[in-house]
Amino acid sequence: MDGKLKVGVIGATGMVGQNYLRLLANHPWFEVVYLAASPNSAGKKYSDAVAGRWHMKNDIPEKFKDIVVEDASLVDKAAGKCSLIFSAVEMDKQSILTVESEYARQGFAVVSNNSAHRNTDDVPVMIPEINADHLDIIPLQQKNHGWNKGFLVVKPNCSIQSYMIPLYALMKAGYVIDKMIVTTLQALSGAGYPGPAAIDLVDNILPFINGEEEKSEVEPRKIFGKVRNGKIVSDDSLKISAHCNRVAVTDGHIACCSIQFAGKKPEINEIINIWRNFSALPQELKLPSAPIPVMVYRNEIDRPQPQKDRDEGNGQAITVGRLRKCNVFDYRFVGLHHNTVRGAAGGSILTAELLKAKGFIK
Ligand code: NAP
Repeated sequence: MDGKLKVGVIGATGMVGQNYLRLLANHPWFEVVYLAASPNSAGKKYSDAVAGRWHMKNDIPEKFKDIVVEDASLVDKAAGKCSLIFSAVEMDKQSILTVESEYARQGFAVVSNNSAHRNTDDVPVMIPEINADHLDIIPLQQKNHGWNKGFLVVKPNCSIQSYMIPLYALMKAGYVIDKMIVTTLQALSGAGYPGPAAIDLVDNILPFINGEEEKSEVEPRKIFGKVRNGKIVSDDSLKISAHCNRVAVTDGHIACCSIQFAGKKPEINEIINIWRNFSALPQELKLPSAPIPVMVYRNEIDRPQPQKDRDEGNGQAITVGRLRKCNVFDYRFVGLHHNTVRGAAGGSILTAELLKAKGFIK
């Protein structure tokens, strides 16, 4: 434990919280010392709080079993125990705004999975390979709220990682993407536990996920935006139309994308080269959770597939395939990522590593 940064997980008993504990059990920089959830779990040992609802393949890491779970709303309980909080609580929006801001006010760095703060002007929505520069707004955020040490950053919706890095790699290579139509096939774990009823899922697809299409269309604009005049100003030039579906897959969100460029457009081989060679700050900094390569391009006509490709790069890499001409736009392709790793706990851990490497968390 010596020298490691002490961290807490709030919402530690849920689907995302359990993934945090799985991924942080042997983390080289972070040591989990504080766990919190709802009042129902508070006061119980972690192993008792998740009895009968531990969903990870491996057993509960021994070192977490006896930690007594606190009530996440009683922020004082975390005082003096840790300096970084990973937030994965499922509460109403106002309660999340209040609780996360209170942790920040009390001096904690908060990295959140929730959507509540994603539209707040001075809160960065992070995909570390794309918008590491948005962290520069943190001192201003602290000034705006009168927070000394604490601050708040969030992770985007779990449906967008399958295409954001492929799109960004093309933009970074000098191409302008004008429009995209995306159809997502989203795994059950993205709905938390227990998620939709089994009878709605067997032999079926649910063509509606509350709020998901709006988030998939709006959040990319903020992530591709720039910090200007003390705000993150969205880049509204990319128009996205999203269809989001829930499918009976345990983990791994697929995105079937058609894209149109403005101006010059690359050839298929060039796109594949750009994707295969893409690298960014997390890889340069050798952050412990940064996947190398960031993107894997599969030549097989029937890949990517959730079962076969979701664990690529320990669940942090994006797998892309089926790049071909589109009869309506320029090109179409399929992207895949592990929704509870890169799309949730793993994406936040990578963000926290970037925060530490850039000196925002001491
Ligand atoms: P979940 O499995 O339903 O877990 C919810 C967690 O929140 C549990 O730890 C629960 O504690 C806690 N909680 C519930 N009510 C609370 C309260 N009043 N006070 C404090 N804690 C409370 O949900 P999840 O799938 O892990 O998602 C957690 C958050 O991450 C959600 O905001 C979700 O939108 C977001 N997210 C999820 C995914 C995903 O892939 N699942 C991806 C990205 C973002 P108890 O066990 O004690 O009830």
